[in-house]
Amino acid sequence: MSLESVGRFPLYRPRRLRQSVALRQMVSETQLNASQLVLPLFARPGKKLRRPIGSMPGVFQLSPDELLKDVTEAHAAGVPAVLLFGIPDEKDEKASGAYARNGIVQQTTKLLKRELPDLVVITDVCLCEYMSHGHCGIVQSSPRGARILNDPTLKLLARTALSHAEAGADIVAPSDMMDGRVRAIRDTLDQGGLEETPIMAYAAKFASAFYGPFREAAESTPKFGDRRSYQMHGANAREALREVALDIQEGADIVMVKPALAYLDILYRVKTEFGYPTAAYAVSAEYSMIKAAGAKGWIDEKAVVLETLLAMRRAGADILITYSAADVARWLAGK
Ligand SMILES: [Zn+2]
Repeated sequence: MSLESVGRFPLYRPRRLRQSVALRQMVSETQLNASQLVLPLFARPGKKLRRPIGSMPGVFQLSPDELLKDVTEAHAAGVPAVLLFGIPDEKDEKASGAYARNGIVQQTTKLLKRELPDLVVITDVCLCEYMSHGHCGIVQSSPRGARILNDPTLKLLARTALSHAEAGADIVAPSDMMDGRVRAIRDTLDQGGLEETPIMAYAAKFASAFYGPFREAAESTPKFGDRRSYQMHGANAREALREVALDIQEGADIVMVKPALAYLDILYRVKTEFGYPTAAYAVSAEYSMIKAAGAKGWIDEKAVVLETLLAMRRAGADILITYSAADVARWLAGK
């Protein structure tokens, strides 16, 4: 935008169009709608189980029956989609629970698709919640330390994605950050006759301190080391664009930036550069910080949540993944 093309005071007075709600809405450049929301949920085996997550007030680990209740309410409020994470009863070093035919995500997906056929069920595809060591891939230990093996992990991820799609998942969403996983998953889905199942890739996923509360929620804290050898370094924006390009070339239908608020520049660049459907994940600490300050009366939770989501939309997000999705849908409907 050149300065010459912009009116000058007193001919141009921006405040003229801010005088009423109707005027402000008429010239609003960005809209926030319930149709953009995705609600992440944590499923665990059992019945009538509703285990609060201490660091995320209002978020629970839920058995499938209880999860169905919450999703039914959220869906009725206008939330069109959920993102499922699973917490299995048992973990091992092959993440067997991730691709078990009757694993917790597979069971819950079947239940949700049977009871709420219009609901879009997205499943998180990763191994960390199912691995005894808590890493997102297969671990090789040596005297020099442990390594997360890339290529052998791809098979397990693809198998997991296939089992989710076979259970009825509408979209599979790999979050592991192994190189080549989108291609491996796409190939496996296609061979399984599921070429119509879209992939939402956690394309630019940064190693972030904002994931803290999630680890309590998903019981996925690594037993040793950290995830910095596979998740991205927060300093790198150009590398994020390469990661996104790679995932698109491998067959991603939707690309994601995670976390959201501290990475709005990445979101903007990804949307501007590629123009692909883009998702922003407002992660656990983004939720917890707002909740905590809201509970203390230091900020207005509703106003701050809506403002942050609007910022993600403005930066380029089409899809907003947020633990506040059900509340947001109600707030947008004026309830
Ligand atoms: Zn993981």
